[in-house]
Amino acid sequence: MKIAVIGGGWAGIAAAVELTANGAETTLFEAGRGLGGRARGVEIDGRQLDNGQHILLGAYRDTLALMRRVGADPGKLFDRQPLQVIDNTGFRLALPHLPAPLNVAWGLLTASAVNWKEKLKTAWWMDGIKRRGFRLAQEMTVAEWLDDAGQTGTLRRHLWEPLCLAALNLPAERASAQLFANVLRDSLGSSRREDTDLLLPRVDLGQLLPEPARHWLLAKGAQIRLSTRVQQIAQTGNGIEIDGTLFAAAIIATAPQHVGTLWPAAATNFAYEPIATVYLKFGPKIKTAFPLSNRLGQHGQWIVDRGHGLLACVLSGHGDWEKFDDAALATTLEAELAMPEAASWHKVIREKRATFSASPGLLRPDFKTTEPRIFLAGDYTWADYPATLEGAVRSGLRAARCVENAVLQHP
Ligand SMILES: Cc1cc2nc3c(=O)[nH]c(=O)nc-3n(C[C@H](O)[C@H](O)[C@H](O)COP(=O)(O)OP(=O)(O)OC[C@H]3O[C@@H](n4cnc5c(N)ncnc54)[C@H](O)[C@@H]3O)c2cc1C
Repeated sequence: MKIAVIGGGWAGIAAAVELTANGAETTLFEAGRGLGGRARGVEIDGRQLDNGQHILLGAYRDTLALMRRVGADPGKLFDRQPLQVIDNTGFRLALPHLPAPLNVAWGLLTASAVNWKEKLKTAWWMDGIKRRGFRLAQEMTVAEWLDDAGQTGTLRRHLWEPLCLAALNLPAERASAQLFANVLRDSLGSSRREDTDLLLPRVDLGQLLPEPARHWLLAKGAQIRLSTRVQQIAQTGNGIEIDGTLFAAAIIATAPQHVGTLWPAAATNFAYEPIATVYLKFGPKIKTAFPLSNRLGQHGQWIVDRGHGLLACVLSGHGDWEKFDDAALATTLEAELAMPEAASWHKVIREKRATFSASPGLLRPDFKTTEPRIFLAGDYTWADYPATLEGAVRSGLRAARCVENAVLQHP
């Protein structure tokens, strides 16, 4: 049974692997020269880097399982660290190796620079959210949610707002409180301690999933058509025709801005948020106290220590930084970091449509279409999450299982 997957990002990869593992003859079409989409490895000046710094969580269960399935070992490929939120003002919240939820309670109660009254109030608030199953009575912004809860002190500025920006790529004033609550539910609110862990890639994104998946798919007989942008999907009486080949079913796993050209009924009019990653190379002795740190009041909001003196500075969402050209941005960030030596190399990578704007009440298209043999996948179709790798992977697995139910088991 021939099945087409259009789009070789993490959603399309997940769908192709699931289908192939269950016996389908899969063809994966990808417009770009390699797999990975918005989370891919790039080679620049002889260095293996990412198109943008990514951070994963222990809660990304389906992503980690998919990696294992194609032979990529998360235990070797990630530096797994219990969550710490550290910033340039001296604030520190570190989760210990205790079972959940003790780890979160201990982390909160030992957070630096926060008074006891605020800590207890926050612990009480978090307990209430948990008891309500992380469901909000109504949609609102994260800022409104925090206001309502009286979360107006140190933890708002040093913990909730930075976490919101990191998870939703939107400031609290514009971000959906329900989506943020969903992220908290599966991380800080999880009953598994390891779900709160930070997973910092030791290798480029290509080696985490796209490359191992490409080898696995080819070894299992799947076809991968790179540099092939599908222009049209034609429904015929016998199936679905794509690029001259007849398929029994298809999964459209493009980014939201591209779905409308292939399936107009699912066209989206989302707003988007950019992310820039500025790589700065210092001497090998330069390292940060913890591999991930937050910089309040600076342009580079998160700094990731990639090892051997390479720092990745992340600029999330729209902001003043967009006015700088690449050279000025790199110079500004280097000055903000104030390292004891000058950077010997830099590279700025801007992704203009890194994520859809996860604002309150955003309507997301259904993954089912009016055609029972065509399904949608992609981060934007996983309505429980903002744009994340885990949402993309889960959406791809779901679409593949629907195809299996619809076509493979009842041809
Ligand atoms: C800089 C940056 C940082 C991020 N940081 C994080 C992070 O820390 N943690 C996290 O979880 N998430 C992060 N994200 C979000 C995450 O990368 C995305 O949610 C995820 O990669 C989306 O995957 P996808 O498969 O849904 O879509 P995409 O990756 O967009 O894949 C769609 C693919 O479809 C292809 N395509 C489009 N049209 C066609 C066509 N007609 N024919 C064939 N192919 C087509 C495209 O070329 C593309 O490869 C970040 C994103 C960016 C850009």
